[in-house]
Amino acid sequence: MTSQKHTENKSDYQTPEVLDYIRKSFSQEDTRHTYILNQMQKRNLPAIQIGASEGKILQFLIQSCHAKKAVEIGTLGGYSALWIADALPQEGKLYTMEYDPIIATGTEKALQEVGLAEKVSVVVGDANKTLKTIEPFGPFDFCFIDADKISYPNYLFWAEQNLRAGGIVAADNAYLFGQVHLDPHTAGENAPAILAMQAFIKRLSDPSCFAVSAMIPTGEGLAIGIKK
Ligand code: SAH
Ligand code: MG
Repeated sequence: MTSQKHTENKSDYQTPEVLDYIRKSFSQEDTRHTYILNQMQKRNLPAIQIGASEGKILQFLIQSCHAKKAVEIGTLGGYSALWIADALPQEGKLYTMEYDPIIATGTEKALQEVGLAEKVSVVVGDANKTLKTIEPFGPFDFCFIDADKISYPNYLFWAEQNLRAGGIVAADNAYLFGQVHLDPHTAGENAPAILAMQAFIKRLSDPSCFAVSAMIPTGEGLAIGIKK
């Protein structure tokens, strides 16, 4: 008998039809999601927001650690912010960080329109700098990373410093669009992003840094970890 080195679930039943059925079952959107998505289209923002199923996974993570104070890095049109805010209790708070001031202003208005002016604060500027300004409101319970990939190691380091023990970090696009495994030495112009994502994965998967961590195999890769 040949010994198997790695166990991997080889089945792949994630057809578009199955995923659609599952999304309709677990991740129903309401008129506010539609409003935010319509506004994004009107404002010519790229449709690079998370999917509804991922929104529901974020909600699961948020409630599993009884989060009240959350941080999001990478706001765009506020679609993921809406999912996150909905999972927080009434007195909960989400700080969402957006680099682009025009995007931030429009999204602040959209979030106001869906009744989230109180619960969500949009913080404008490069998160590498602005995260410092929200530290006095910490420690935080949940942090969602979904901005410039090159900064993922910085953002993870910040999360480690500013999450409470038992708090959860989640990061979208952890497969780096199918390039996370490549050798940075032969990757040309993508090398910096690959190096960054590999450093991010190395740290997140290190049991001496995080109590438990894993990858949820969404299309983009949703990396998750529980702060020690
Ligand atoms: N989380 C959103 C999508 C975010 S797209 C959703 O799923 O709905 C990534 C966003 O990060 C963009 O709006 C981009 O302007 C922002 N961004 C990029 N670099 C950033 C930085 N250094 N600091 C803060 N935001 C940044
Ligand atoms: Mg993303």
